[in-house]
Amino acid sequence: NGTILRCSNTKELLEKHLKATGGKVLTRFPPEPNGYLHIGHAKAMFVDFGLAKERGGGCYLRYDDTNPEAEKKEYIDHIEEIVRWMGWEPFKITYASDYFQDLYELAVELIRRGHAYVDHQTPDEIKEYREKKMNSPWRDRPVAESLKLFEEMKQGLIDEGKATLRMKQDMQSDNFNMYDLIAYRIKFTPHPHAGDKWCIYPSYDYAHCTVDSLENITHSLCTLEFETRRASYYWLLHALDLYQPYVWEYSRLNVSNNVLSKRKLNRLVTEKWVDGWDDPRLLTLAGLRRRGVTSTAINAFVRGMGITRSDCSLIRFDRLEYHIREELNRTAARAMVVLQPLKVVITNLENGSILDLDAKKWPEAQADEASAFYKVPFSNIVYIEQSDFRLKDSKDYYGLAPGKSVLLRYAYPIKCTDVILADDNETVLEIRAEYDASKKSKPKGVLHWVAQPSPGVNPLNVEVRLFDKLFLSENPAELDDWLADLNPHSKVVIPSAYAVPELRNAVVGDTFQFERLGYFAVDKDSTPEKLVFNRTVTLRDSYKS
Ligand code: ATP
Ligand code: MG
Ligand code: MG
Repeated sequence: NGTILRCSNTKELLEKHLKATGGKVLTRFPPEPNGYLHIGHAKAMFVDFGLAKERGGGCYLRYDDTNPEAEKKEYIDHIEEIVRWMGWEPFKITYASDYFQDLYELAVELIRRGHAYVDHQTPDEIKEYREKKMNSPWRDRPVAESLKLFEEMKQGLIDEGKATLRMKQDMQSDNFNMYDLIAYRIKFTPHPHAGDKWCIYPSYDYAHCTVDSLENITHSLCTLEFETRRASYYWLLHALDLYQPYVWEYSRLNVSNNVLSKRKLNRLVTEKWVDGWDDPRLLTLAGLRRRGVTSTAINAFVRGMGITRSDCSLIRFDRLEYHIREELNRTAARAMVVLQPLKVVITNLENGSILDLDAKKWPEAQADEASAFYKVPFSNIVYIEQSDFRLKDSKDYYGLAPGKSVLLRYAYPIKCTDVILADDNETVLEIRAEYDASKKSKPKGVLHWVAQPSPGVNPLNVEVRLFDKLFLSENPAELDDWLADLNPHSKVVIPSAYAVPELRNAVVGDTFQFERLGYFAVDKDSTPEKLVFNRTVTLRDSYKS
């Protein structure tokens, strides 16, 4: 007891600190395990881990686990996994709760020094008194009384809500965050990491700075909303004669047409507005990963924004899309998939004759590299997109129309010779066409397509999921009824698209460019019978309204 408090002069504190760090930069990334991490946390990690890495130091992954009600083992496990997926290696993994005993002893010391008192005001009273800059009636109770009551709080002898430990800060300050912030509260809730050992839990304001200090953090980096809490941060360390880290703030990231606050994400997930924390429409890191976005693209996006204090923090989603395309264009194999198949019968190709053609797999591959191509069957039954056929041709239209020719990419030009319509005289059931085996004709339009691999056998059937912005407004977090702003068409499922046989062996996480449709990733919902693909991003910016 008391070992932490022995040094009480600055020089001694600094020497002790330097001995612990060896003069190296030590930072921490302190997520609360009350949800999955999101793209805002990618920025925080870039700042915290990035600075330490750049300086040859280390960054703690520290679970800021002081609110047992909201925290879960599932989140703890996920956070560690996703931090590594983002490419960061924690110097050490710690928990604020690892320090509960130290923090408790420090609290006792704080009371002894006359800097904290046990209070009995209700939350409403605390609020009212703060607004009026009035002291709590318990503020000046004797130290011995507070010590005794704090001990009783710890032993579970006082009911939840009947007492708190408050720091005796400055009720006359201009800073609202100096009005005797709560240091400890009673909660008869077991803790996901500390078990049922404690029924008093420290607050963020009490625990964050003390743990930063105990871990010898050199630079404590956080988002700007904590700026007003800096005074309290230093007040407490000063009151306890503890080493003081350097605190520095940066602006919080927000992305258009989506929400990032974990409280909101939690509602979306638990009320099933989306399909879990890793729904590809969410900007959680798990959602982005499932959608096919790589950590490299996310980090490039964060780096591109810069780390500033300015509050230009609503970043358009298409800035992220740019980095995603940039990467997937280099790394995703090409393939062909038809989302809404329209049957084309090639009348001058014999039923049963299959031509084995080469299609380009990689964008910049050399023609002589075998791995640069995949085999694609061409037969007398070919499917094109319904949207690539029109009954009425026009000048600026490059798709197929009666009498018109298009090139089937990697195969042949075809010319539409006949159209089979349904009884409504509008719905196109089937197209008849002739192919140009000589490839002499050079049509302007080039289409993707998928053919029957053998007579009577349909092409590979896959499910494709297309995503659009999750919210209609740019900044839904601002709206009172933000849930009413959800885009009803944010997810479109195409249960049976046709794919080239090459895709048969794709596995979860593989990414592809489906020609003319965008970049896609294999989803975890895939089964041996049926692959499911998520569209990561379209080929060009389709985000403009
Ligand atoms: P939320 O409102 O999403 O719960 P939080 O700040 O409570 O956010 P934590 O898990 O406590 O979430 O955050 C861990 C670290 O990540 C903190 O340093 C926090 O400042 C930072 N962080 C959280 N959200 C963002 C964001 N949108 N942009 C940048 N940094 C963020
Ligand atoms: Mg937090
Ligand atoms: Mg939070």
